[in-house]
This record gives sequence, C-alpha cells and structure tokens, in this order.
Amino acid sequence: MSPATDLETARASLNAERERLLVELGQPIENPAQMTYGSQAAAASQVFEQQRDLALRDRSRLELSRVEAALRSIDDGTYGICTNCGNPIGAERLEAIPWAPTCIDCARKLER
Ligand SMILES: [Zn+2]
Repeated sequence: MSPATDLETARASLNAERERLLVELGQPIENPAQMTYGSQAAAASQVFEQQRDLALRDRSRLELSRVEAALRSIDDGTYGICTNCGNPIGAERLEAIPWAPTCIDCARKLER
C-alpha cells in the first residue's frame, strides 16, 4: 500500500463528494411566501420543511467546506494530519470520512 495511491483514492472520493454537495446546494429551496395558505397546518408543515431544508443545507455547506479544505491539504501535503493536535489521523477514520479534519480523539473531545 503506497501513500501516493491512498492520496489519489482520497482525492477521488473527495471530488465525488464535492460534486454531490454542489448539486445538492444548487437546488432551490421552496419559498413558503409564494404558496397559498390553504390551512394553518399546511403552512406550519411548509415552514417546518423549509427549516429542515435550511438545516440540511447548513450541514451540506459545512461538509463542503471540510471537503474543500481536505482537497487543499492534499495539495499542501498536510492531508491526514489532525488540524487540532497535529497527529496523523487514523487510516480507518479517513476511509470512513475522507474529509475528517481531526483525529478521532480530538473529534470526541470537540463534540463534548
Ligand atoms: Zn487530534
């Protein structure tokens, strides 16, 4: 297993993920102001759906910024290094989440 091959594999999955997120973020969100308010329940569920869409979009944006940072770090030669403690991120973690910015220990600490 050569590191160069791993990097190219990571780059390929990062690019694929980046494209998926860009497509997702490019989709318009329905504007509830443009719909006719037939019933309050319908209006409420529409608002709820829009809020959910916005939350999903926030998460996609965050993920996209991580994916792009990971792609940059491949070019910089710092890919796979934890941005928090500077230790290498485990290969298994990178396989599961190629855009992981931190090692599993730091991710657990930061989640708390
Ligand atoms: Zn760390």
